Amino acid sequence: MQYYEIICSSCKQKFKVYEGSQRYRRFKEKTNKIFRCESCDSKIRMDAIKNFLSTHS
Ligand SMILES: [Zn+2]
Repeated sequence: MQYYEIICSSCKQKFKVYEGSQRYRRFKEKTNKIFRCESCDSKIRMDAIKNFLSTHS
């Protein structure tokens, strides 16, 4: 399986993006310059949800 090794923009850890995944496509098409690993991505998503909830309650 083909993959790219990308440095996470957030935690600076190397992570692999495998062929067929959404990240792989985004990386190849260069539509996004900021790439985050799975754990940073979900952390940011959780923070966004928390912010949303705290400003809407
Ligand atoms: Zn990360």
